[in-house]
Formats: sequence, C-alpha cells, structure tokens
Amino acid sequence: MIEIENVRKSFGPLEVLKGVSLTVNKGEVVSIIGGSGSGKSTLLTCINGLEPIDAGRILIDGTEVHARGTDLNKLRRKVGIVFQQWNAFPHLTVLENVTLAPRKVLGMPKAQAEEIAVRQLTHVGLADKLKVYPGRLSGGQQQRMAIARALAMSPSYMLFDEVTSALDPQLVGEVLDTLKMLAEEGMTMICVTHEMGFARDVSKRVAFFHQGVIAEIGPPEQIFGAPQSAETRKFLSNVR
Ligand code: ATP
Ligand code: MG
Repeated sequence: MIEIENVRKSFGPLEVLKGVSLTVNKGEVVSIIGGSGSGKSTLLTCINGLEPIDAGRILIDGTEVHARGTDLNKLRRKVGIVFQQWNAFPHLTVLENVTLAPRKVLGMPKAQAEEIAVRQLTHVGLADKLKVYPGRLSGGQQQRMAIARALAMSPSYMLFDEVTSALDPQLVGEVLDTLKMLAEEGMTMICVTHEMGFARDVSKRVAFFHQGVIAEIGPPEQIFGAPQSAETRKFLSNVR
C-alpha cells in the first residue's frame, strides 16, 4: 500500500505540493490528471524518494520513505518509475539495457538476469528486438523497453509519468495497451496521464490535481461523468 499523508513540498519560494493525501491500495490503479505545473511529476518523484519533502509523510508498505535510516535503494526496487522519455544506453542492445539494473543493483547472475529480461521484453511485445540497439526502435518500442526495464526489477508498485506524451499519436495506443495489460494483471500503479480515455477505462480512481492539491478524487464515472468541483469541470472542458 502507498500512503501519502498531507505532503508539502517547495522548490525555493514556490510551494508545489500544498498538502497532498492519497492512499493507493494493492492492485489498485490510480490516474492523476491536471494542468501543467500542478505538481503531478513532483509527487511521483517524492513517492520513490528522488525528492525530499518538507512536511507530511509517504509510506510504502509501512516504511516511511523520507525517514532517517530508510534504505532508499531497497525502496526504489519496490517502486518502479517510467518517465516520458528514458535515455537508454545507445551502445547496449535492448536485452543488455534491460539486464543492467538486475545485474548491477541486485547482483543477479547474467543468465538469470537475461532470463528475466527476455520474459519482460516478451511480455511487452519486444521478443524480436532483443539484439537490436535502442536507436533502431520506434518511440513506442522504446517506451515499452523502458517499462520492461522497470519490470525486470520485480517491483510491487509502478509509477508512470506521462509515458505517452512524447510519442507520435499512432504510437500511443501500443504503450497504453501495455499499461492496460499490467493493470489487468493486478499491478498497483499510479499513472500521471493526459490520456483521458485511458484514465477513464483503466483506473479505479482518478485524482485531479490543481495548484498543488488534489482538488477532486473519485471513480472515473464521477470525474468524467459528474465532476463535483468547478475546477475539474473547467479542466475537462479544456482538454476535450
Ligand atoms: P506537467 O503536466 O507540465 O508535467 P506537473 O504537474 O508534472 O506539470 P511538476 O513538474 O510537478 O508539474 O512541477 C510543479 C512546479 O514545480 C512547476 O512550477 C515547476 O516549474 C516546479 N518545479 C519542478 N521541479 C523543480 C525543480 N527541480 N526545481 C525548481 N522548480 C521545480
Ligand atoms: Mg509532469
């Protein structure tokens, strides 16, 4: 379970998170939508401890992320994160890119790391690209490689930050299908997304971020069908 309790976070004078609370249960998919600069990416980087917070707390399976003494490396193995773009190592093949972290971080023997990498790459539909260099992949394939790379660490949770935003429209679907497959398999996920159709179809709950707070959260039927907050209505009328 991911528990976010009243988290505050500033960058210098700019308060970006102004008291964010959110609990994500095992197997749940929560989408985060909201305007540019509302703090969505900042929240994700706080969840896996890439950024410190100023107040509140975040717990992953009961372990407080920002507490003194928390093993952040161990925690990050539990919480995979995929960004808009991931710069793969261009001189390593797809397979080598995906085996890197299990080998270096987990100290896994090569054969075992490769077995897992092949399984995950097959899972995301890249079984025929193992020996290819990342530069030869399409944008959608690169994003699926990034997802396989995160999955190769056997995370309990996955955070996705606008993983389709940098893609040409015709490549968006294949990546969303991959996320949908993970959701159906029961992966616990937080997805920051601009894809309202995805948020509606795949998430159990949708959180609307506005100026550093969750202005509204509820099942997709509420957020897209009968939003309670004027800000949500305004945001949705602009994106559709
Ligand atoms: P978008 O939809 O455009 O990705 P977002 O909701 O993800 O937006 P964040 O990236 O979380 O927004 O940024 C929130 C605010 O914090 C923005 O005003 C941004 O400029 C600022 N910010 C983010 N990271 C930093 C940083 N490392 N240093 C200073 N300011 C930052
Ligand atoms: Mg962002």
